[in-house]
Order: sequence, then structure tokens, then C-alpha cells
Amino acid sequence: MKALVKARSERGLWLQDVPEPQVGINDVLIKVHKTGICGTDLHIYKWDAWAQKTIPVPMVVGHEFVGEVVSVGSNVNDFHPGEIVSAEGHVVCGRCRNCLAGRRHLCKDTVGIGVNRTGAFAEYISVPMTNVWHHREGVDEDVASIFDPFGNAVHTALAFECLGEDVLITGAGPIGIMAIPVVKHAGARHVVITDVNEYRLDLARQMGATRAVNVKNESIEDVQMQLGMKEGFDVGLEMSGNAAAFRSMIDNMCHGGKIAMLGIPSEQIAIDWNKVIFNMLTIKGIYGRQMYETWYYMSVLLESGVNIKPVITHRYHYTEYEKGFAAMESGNCGKVVLDWSA
Ligand code: NAD
Ligand code: ZN
Repeated sequence: MKALVKARSERGLWLQDVPEPQVGINDVLIKVHKTGICGTDLHIYKWDAWAQKTIPVPMVVGHEFVGEVVSVGSNVNDFHPGEIVSAEGHVVCGRCRNCLAGRRHLCKDTVGIGVNRTGAFAEYISVPMTNVWHHREGVDEDVASIFDPFGNAVHTALAFECLGEDVLITGAGPIGIMAIPVVKHAGARHVVITDVNEYRLDLARQMGATRAVNVKNESIEDVQMQLGMKEGFDVGLEMSGNAAAFRSMIDNMCHGGKIAMLGIPSEQIAIDWNKVIFNMLTIKGIYGRQMYETWYYMSVLLESGVNIKPVITHRYHYTEYEKGFAAMESGNCGKVVLDWSA
């Protein structure tokens, strides 16, 4: 089968013929229809310091996908050929205290699909049945292919109560943008999102942000004044990984404000802890998605009319993956989806 392989310890990915995956007794074999390119895949493509110390070579990469069940192992009863599914990208141990307690997203021995084990940028992928998510009848397959990052957005957006709250999102990458309709659906009043990239800020406006602010030209303080906000944001979603963005979020929270942090900083960030202490801020780290409460929320959010489809701005056949990675690298894109169905 064809697959995108990190075949050499240098920049790039290579389209190669690789053996079809083995299907264990607890596994589900899935024919991949569509895949999303994640920022993680771009790190692997660019072969930065993180990728060099993390990714085994050679390996098939990719973890955001939707596909169709082809066959199942002998222990598997809940999945049948033809069903449309995605998979949770974290394979957990099932044995640690958190796993045994049903808090599988907190597993201490998580293994990442397309990061630590064979990935989804391929015609077929085999995953443990405990990682497979059934999509609802009639799901849009473009949207289904990006459930993984949509899940990051939903997990972060719902970390704190949003009803009636003013929400600040720093970083209008695909995940920050997808968080907009989610917090609005959850009852937020003003949703202000920041970035330094006009293409993405435009997309954020289309997705319903109250204000999409280019922090190169305008301060969050000024926007608060214009919106008549006197006490600061109630909820903050940090989705940039940028130090200046995080500091400005801390500066613009109300007393008792709550911050959920998804963005991954490339290095340590110093902050003014006095503001956290005297303003009694709560800061919560967010990783991955809750297994499987976030997946349930995603499916029902779509059924309730939440529309994240406009975040997909580029679509290519998998043989044109270089164009997809170029779009990702330019930053002038939302989600980029590769089609593997033909
Ligand atoms: P992305 O890199 O596409 O988006 C980040 C955005 O932040 C970019 O649009 C960038 O222009 C913007 N930005 C840069 N400087 C800024 C500033 N000063 N103020 C405001 N915005 C600024 O990433 P994404 O795919 O949307 O993911 C969002 C973040 O979440 C990334 O940091 C990613 O690494 C991280 N992430 C974390 C998890 C997790 O499980 N914790 C999972 C997926 C992604
Ligand atoms: Zn575990």
C-alpha cells in the first residue's frame, strides 16, 4: 500500500510502498478515506529538534483521519465492515491507576499514533478497538477527518463553564478557530480571539468571533473598552504557545478568571505570578481529548448544528502532499485535508 513515510533523518516525507498493517485479535483494520495535517506532522516534516528526539525512522506518520472499517480481529464485536470511523490518537496502557479508573486521557504510558507507532497517512491503518470512534450516520467526512484537533478545541473550550462568560482565545490557528463556535454554543457572550496572521483572523471572523484582534495593531485592553467590558475576561483559552500571548492573557483576565492552556510553548515562559496569586487565577493544562467524553461531545455538537467545516481551507489528493505541507508552512491556511479515497 502507499504511505507517507518519515524515511530519512532529514527534512521531508516520502511517498512509498509499505506492507499492509498486521491486524491483531483486538484490532480494527481501517481503509483511510481522508487525513488532516496537524502541526505535529509539520514538525516531523521539518525535522526540528523535537521531531529528531521523538520520531523513530523509518515510520508512517499522521494521526488525524477518517475511514471505513475493512476487517476486525477475532475479539472484536462492536465494529463491522463499512462503518465510518476515526480513531483516538493516543493508545493507552489500560493498566495504570488512571486508566483503571476510566481516566484514560491521563494514562502515564500513552503511545501516539503517527508519533511513536505507525500512523494514518496510508491507505490502511490498524488500531486497537478501544481507540476506534463510530461516527454518526451521515457525518461529513471532511469534518470527521479532523476530529482529533476538533477534540483538542472541544476539550479546552469546555474545561470551564462558558455560559454568559466573556472568553479570550489567544492564537487563531485551526484549533483556536474551532473553539469559537464551541464556546458560543456553550453560551459565551463575547468571544475575542487574537493572532498576528490576517488570513487566520479573517477565518476567525467567519467562524463567529465577536472580535478577531491582530495584536500587532491593537491591544486587548482597547478591545475590552470598546466592548464595554470593565472587569476582564472570565475564561481564557491559550492556543498559541506564544509567551507574549500568554502574558497578555494573564493581564486581561478578571479576578477569579480561569485559563485553559493547550498551546505548547517551545521553551519555558516566565510570567508575573503576583497577578496569578492576587487575582486568584486558575490555570489548567489540557492535553489531547477526554476518552471518550470529548468524542461524544464532538458528535453531538455537530448534530446540534455546530459547523466547523469552514476551518478546512485546503484539500489535496495524497500524492500532492507537498502542496499541503507548503500551505501549512506558509501559515495562510486553516486545516489542510488529504484525500486517500481514490
Ligand atoms: P498553530 O500553530 O496553527 O496556531 C497557533 C497560532 O498562534 C498561529 O496562528 C500563530 O500565528 C498564533 N500566534 C503567534 N504569536 C501570537 C501572539 N503573540 N498572539 C496571538 N497569537 C499568536 O497551532 P494549532 O494547530 O491551532 O494548535 C494550537 C496550539 O496547541 C499549538 O501550540 C499546538 O502545538 C498546541 N497543541 C496542543 C495539544 C495538546 O494536546 N496540548 C494538541 C494539539 C495542539
Ligand atoms: Zn495507562
